[in-house]
Amino acid sequence: MPTFFKPETIRLSCVDLSFEGLGVCKDNGRVVFVENMFPGEEADVEIAYQRAGSLFGRVVKLTKPSPDRIEPRCKVCSICGGCQFQQYAYKAQLSYKQSKVKEQFRKIAHMDVEVLPTLGMNDPYFYRNKIQMPFGLVGKGKVYCGFYKKGSHVIVPIEKCYIEDERAEKILQTVCSLMTSMQIRPYDELSGEGAIRYALIRTSKCFHDIMLTLVTASDRFASSERFLHALLETCPEITTVVQNVNPKKTNVILGERTKTLFGRGFIRDALCGVNFRISPKSFYQTNPTMTETLYEKAMDFAELMPNDVVFDAYSGIGTIGMIAAKRCKKAISVEIVREAARDAIANAKDNGIANFVSYADDASAFITRMACVGDHIDVLFMDPPRKGSDKRFLDAVIKLKPSRIVYVSCDPSTLARDVAYLSKSYKINKIQPVDLFPQTFHVETIVELTLKK
Ligand code: SAH
Repeated sequence: MPTFFKPETIRLSCVDLSFEGLGVCKDNGRVVFVENMFPGEEADVEIAYQRAGSLFGRVVKLTKPSPDRIEPRCKVCSICGGCQFQQYAYKAQLSYKQSKVKEQFRKIAHMDVEVLPTLGMNDPYFYRNKIQMPFGLVGKGKVYCGFYKKGSHVIVPIEKCYIEDERAEKILQTVCSLMTSMQIRPYDELSGEGAIRYALIRTSKCFHDIMLTLVTASDRFASSERFLHALLETCPEITTVVQNVNPKKTNVILGERTKTLFGRGFIRDALCGVNFRISPKSFYQTNPTMTETLYEKAMDFAELMPNDVVFDAYSGIGTIGMIAAKRCKKAISVEIVREAARDAIANAKDNGIANFVSYADDASAFITRMACVGDHIDVLFMDPPRKGSDKRFLDAVIKLKPSRIVYVSCDPSTLARDVAYLSKSYKINKIQPVDLFPQTFHVETIVELTLKK
């Protein structure tokens, strides 16, 4: 819990940016983290609260702006929790991400590594293909949607988001106005009452597919048929609507059950010449333009040979494994979410890729069995979630001895930890950050490792 105290305002200089994109200021041996303050800037900062031994402040008056400070496109960027860097020049964002990766390797792996310059977007806006928003109620019943305010559960109303696919905007506004006119209540976290919890929209870059997932508190909600009919009349661009039921008091967005209300129940997209179907619960990268750059780099790093056996761990709908399968003898993928592993099988069939197999399993359990029976793999692609991999997985890798590993990660700190563990047997060749998340502090990184002789 944060400790609040009588505010104190002091003049501070920003010397760095933290892991989470906060300005780092020093004051007589104290470190103060300040939102929306960039290196080289000076400001009068109100120190607002203390959490886990660190002080947090906010800018009262900016006295010396950075040359990298720019006018943000979004009016609510300083209160909405979605972006941190709308006011920071894109070039500066990219170099921040490069040094952040280097810093995590220094801090966590105790390694001084060379990190390549971050690969960025030509136009770093409107890139997200997945949008999820909760709903709120104003006064007597006007429904609005938005993002949670930083660190809270207060919904900041958003009419236009500058990082989302622009096609989502009209659909979300239509959902809000239909909920208002049909008196369909948004779910209220405190009372547990109300019908609709979230709307999730997924758009395809290559096809005209758009999926709307309505997360509801119970199986049925009043006027659902009328609602669907009116929605599709106003937004005929929606190709499928699914309902996900989440009756639990939780901040996890999706519940167990999903049913298709309209259309096929999935969308299609294409990356690097392969078509994919994506079901509502399957993971799919949120920036398709940069995902192609990411996968192309990953393939370059893998230097696949026609006789190679490839293992794609944490595979989602099989994207990396299937792209690799076109250049090698065989690709095996493993993914824990059953629905995603099933998508991978359908995807291989749809694309006529016969040398690809997909299993629904825990990656550590699966690879440990491979190591026990002495299977052979030449190249390992691993792309775990934010928490990274685990010792069991990494020990099995060390036993299996693939000659190359391409580690794709969305969290440089767990990446540094895991690479440090692998470095007893593997040499780091290249570290490449890729900007999948412009305007935010997040960074995707690819590391190429080769087996030490
Ligand atoms: N490589 C894919 C997915 C990366 S996201 C892509 O580029 O699209 C990480 C994936 O790991 C998610 O699909 C998640 O469901 C899966 N995952 C998480 N924990 C896992 C585990 N223990 N074993 C296997 N897969 C896991």
